[in-house]
Amino acid sequence: MAHELPALPYAYDALEPVIDKQTMTIHHDLHHGAYVKNLNAALEKHPELAGKSAEDLIKDLNAIPEDIRGAVRNNAGGHVNHTMFWKIMKPQGGGDPTGPIAEAIQKSFGAFKDFQTKFNDAGVKQFGSGWVWLASKGGTDLHIMSTPNQDSPISQGHYPIFGNDVWEHAYYLKYNNRRPEYLAAWWNVINWDEVNKRFAAFKSGKPVQEPALASR
Ligand code: MN
Repeated sequence: MAHELPALPYAYDALEPVIDKQTMTIHHDLHHGAYVKNLNAALEKHPELAGKSAEDLIKDLNAIPEDIRGAVRNNAGGHVNHTMFWKIMKPQGGGDPTGPIAEAIQKSFGAFKDFQTKFNDAGVKQFGSGWVWLASKGGTDLHIMSTPNQDSPISQGHYPIFGNDVWEHAYYLKYNNRRPEYLAAWWNVINWDEVNKRFAAFKSGKPVQEPALASR
């Protein structure tokens, strides 16, 4: 059994001009590809974990044998985070949020623009590599959080409704060191339908079980 790199759900140039084709190609094929490859290599040492989904692996990192705990944290984390990331973006995305997530954002943060400002600010302030998230712990709770490296909110008991990748590999070719510019432009490719799907599933107590995160 092994984990597999899911195909990108659109063409490599589909998110142009917000995210360029070369960045998408390297990011998906090489970076996400490496997380999957390194996860499989780590799991070879512990065949008892071979059947677990990548999400299950990072839910309780203390349950992972110490000799591969770091590798699982980084690489199962990277696999889970990127599999979400490709899906919560789409060509001709963006605009104001719709549906239940729009109401929930309004309730927790007020105007959408104020929420965006806070989210972007948390992304700018994440020192070094990491992610910025809209996460929830259940009920009506919605909060912004950031994590270093490939750490997932899932490992801390939070559910990631959506997140943005602020590693330099996500933006450097086009935006160079201008992370704030990337964060601002990124809203033009967010896929609110997919975000609503994740939010609705989480609220109903059955968070999305991503088939691409299964070991097969
Ligand atoms: Mn990345």
